[in-house]
Amino acid sequence: MKCSQCESTLFSPGYLGSSSSDDRGTYERWYDGELELGMFGDVKHASSRARFQVLAYRCQGCGHIELFAGAQD
Ligand SMILES: [Zn+2]
Repeated sequence: MKCSQCESTLFSPGYLGSSSSDDRGTYERWYDGELELGMFGDVKHASSRARFQVLAYRCQGCGHIELFAGAQD
C-alpha cells in the first residue's frame, strides 16, 4: 500500500471509534446501499443491509488516513 498524498509505504493499522463521553468501545461500519432516512431521521432498512467493519490505516509520513471495508459483521 502506498500513500496517495506523500507516497510513503509505512502505515499504522487502526479503526474509527466513538469519541463521546460514554464511549463503550464502539467502531464505525460501512453499510451497503444508499442512505435513506425515515420521517424521524432514522436510517431505513439498516438492519437488513450487509455491513462491514471500517479499517483505517494512518500514514506514518503525513497522517493521511486510508479507509477499507474489513470483515462483515
Ligand atoms: Zn502520507
